[in-house]
Amino acid sequence: MGISGGKDSAALAIYIKTKYPDLDIEYYTCDTGKELDETYQLIENLEVFLGKEIRKLRAVEDSHEDPFDHYLKRYGGFLPSSNSRWCTKKLKLEPFEHYVGVDSVVSYVGIRGDEEREGYISKKPNIQSIFPFRKNIWSEDVVAKALANTNRDVLVDIYHSLELEARSNRFEEILLIPAEQKFTQSHKLNTLLDLHVRDFNRLIFAFLQTTQYPLATESLFPLVDNDEVLVREDIFRILEESGVGIPAYYHKKDFAINGKKGQYSRSRSGCYFCFFQQKIEWIWLYEQHPERFAKAMEYEKDGYTWNQEERLDEMILPERMQQIKEDFIKKTSNAVSHSPFLLDILDEEEGVGCAACFI
Ligand code: SF4
Repeated sequence: MGISGGKDSAALAIYIKTKYPDLDIEYYTCDTGKELDETYQLIENLEVFLGKEIRKLRAVEDSHEDPFDHYLKRYGGFLPSSNSRWCTKKLKLEPFEHYVGVDSVVSYVGIRGDEEREGYISKKPNIQSIFPFRKNIWSEDVVAKALANTNRDVLVDIYHSLELEARSNRFEEILLIPAEQKFTQSHKLNTLLDLHVRDFNRLIFAFLQTTQYPLATESLFPLVDNDEVLVREDIFRILEESGVGIPAYYHKKDFAINGKKGQYSRSRSGCYFCFFQQKIEWIWLYEQHPERFAKAMEYEKDGYTWNQEERLDEMILPERMQQIKEDFIKKTSNAVSHSPFLLDILDEEEGVGCAACFI
């Protein structure tokens, strides 16, 4: 289980440890060397709760530089961006895949039940991702394979052979309907899940025994009985109740501009200079961690910038900061009637982020 330093993976570790104490989980975190202190603190708190070490994977072990700086040099100072995310690949995915090697591995990913995304996860055939917080715990490649039209009869045969909780003709009828434009595979998946989550999981788990997926070698997998769906509120509750706590950067701070009051925080873990952060989060960094902001500015040279439209030294000009804060106050006051969470507003770009860095 990868621990990004964000709220969702931390909550997942607590949830699985509490609910499935017999599962033998290894925890790891990929350290870019550029996380906020709050993130390292969360990882320490989690180690205490889990009673286990969270293995720190670094993309380069024998360099005097942090992994990020080491690779930045290799890339000739070319800063990563959402269109060119060499950082996620080199600093997160590759160290994990290198650590795993050729072993068969089940990787638990903390994407929540209220999110619409699969995340940026490893696609190696010996690594199978499981999403315990979602109604559908299976990865999209597993679903695509199991519900392929060519496998309809195979699935029905397996369905007949299983001991199930709620065998139904309707379930079987749905299994036999070909996925097509009018009844897509995702529609079919949701219909089956709505009929019976645990029976659907038993069916997929039995189907996996006919494949090369890592779970094919397991005779039991307790997660097939899990039909809980966890959403944002559950994540905060789990973190609070466990004593691990919410990462400190999520705590809202007050600010004022021209007599108007607002609140800001950071919405995700990851490198302090991450290009996925919103303008108001850069201002939060400037005001709450000025030394980190100054370091982020030092990276902007030779025409490379973290944001496409403006450099960081332009962003902190007084008029520009005022504008960013005012825009954010306007945005939050418009959105507040729709959501009680500041994080929802900051998080609206969450889907484009990466599972390896922010979950
Ligand atoms: S947090 Fe952002 S900058 Fe850091 S590795 Fe992830 S995507 Fe790249």
